[in-house]
Amino acid sequence: MSRLAEARTYDLDALRDRVLAEPGGSVNESIPQLAAADPDLCGLALVLADGTVRTSARADAAVSVQSAVKPFLFALALLDTGGRALDEIGIEPTGEAFDAIKLETGTGRPPNPMVNAGALLTAALVDGGDVDGRDERILCGLSAFAGQELEVDEDVARSEHLLGDRNHALAHLMRAEGTLAVSADDAVAVYARACAVLVDARTLAVMGATLACGGVNPITGRRVVPTEVARDVVSVMATCGVYDGSGRWMRSVGVPAKSSVSGGIVLSAPGLLGGAVLSPPLDEQGTSVRGRIACETLSADLDLHVFGSHAA
Ligand code: GLN
Repeated sequence: MSRLAEARTYDLDALRDRVLAEPGGSVNESIPQLAAADPDLCGLALVLADGTVRTSARADAAVSVQSAVKPFLFALALLDTGGRALDEIGIEPTGEAFDAIKLETGTGRPPNPMVNAGALLTAALVDGGDVDGRDERILCGLSAFAGQELEVDEDVARSEHLLGDRNHALAHLMRAEGTLAVSADDAVAVYARACAVLVDARTLAVMGATLACGGVNPITGRRVVPTEVARDVVSVMATCGVYDGSGRWMRSVGVPAKSSVSGGIVLSAPGLLGGAVLSPPLDEQGTSVRGRIACETLSADLDLHVFGSHAA
């Protein structure tokens, strides 16, 4: 059976039951709304290149997208700057935590768009003129990836803005280096709001599938970004998407992905499918514990590893 045919009949509820039995990890406590997350929330979804949607129970339970927004912010920044974003942000993995207070040596640029410094900058590079304009542009762009109108959790956005001391520090550091054109507070405000966009597993899987399908949303059929932009974004997800766990992820899962502190993981298997797992308890690198296990299992069962032999 082809890999797509296998995915069309895959039992996501059985996988969900299996990973729900996995203990370990703890929910992120950086803001009250994340600290209050239900540790037993678990939703999975797959969206195939032909538009087939497969979901488990709780695939419609929403959380704030957090860092899983970063690939899409990078895509919008590449689109709106005509690729100039690639001059302003590095694309090398850091081997460090997502919020490390560190810029690229010699250039003062953020090391890559998947860590917080890089996402603060990509959110500042999208069109829009001022904070409100960029907020609107980002929400509209993310909604195009999702194929539906997304919403911001305003309480989460406020908490992120107020309590994100490391993000304020990173924005000020980029100002000092001359690599951030907008004010530090404006940069944090826009990034905080992007992290507070609500998604469920199904929505996040559609967004991942749009990148996997070269920038065309497989449900709406609408082109959201050019093929080259989608390829650049998925490349950087593959090398930097799981921070200092990216190497281990590439070996054991082998599918470009982005993790987030709300427990979401978005997957983009090029040409095949997008996927998402949401489960709040995290490991040391800020990756969902059950999400990792689910992605390892999916990759093995559906032969998704990009360096697999893919028997015909
Ligand atoms: N909003 C979070 C932050 O900026 C996102 C981090 C994450 O999901 N890894 O710290």
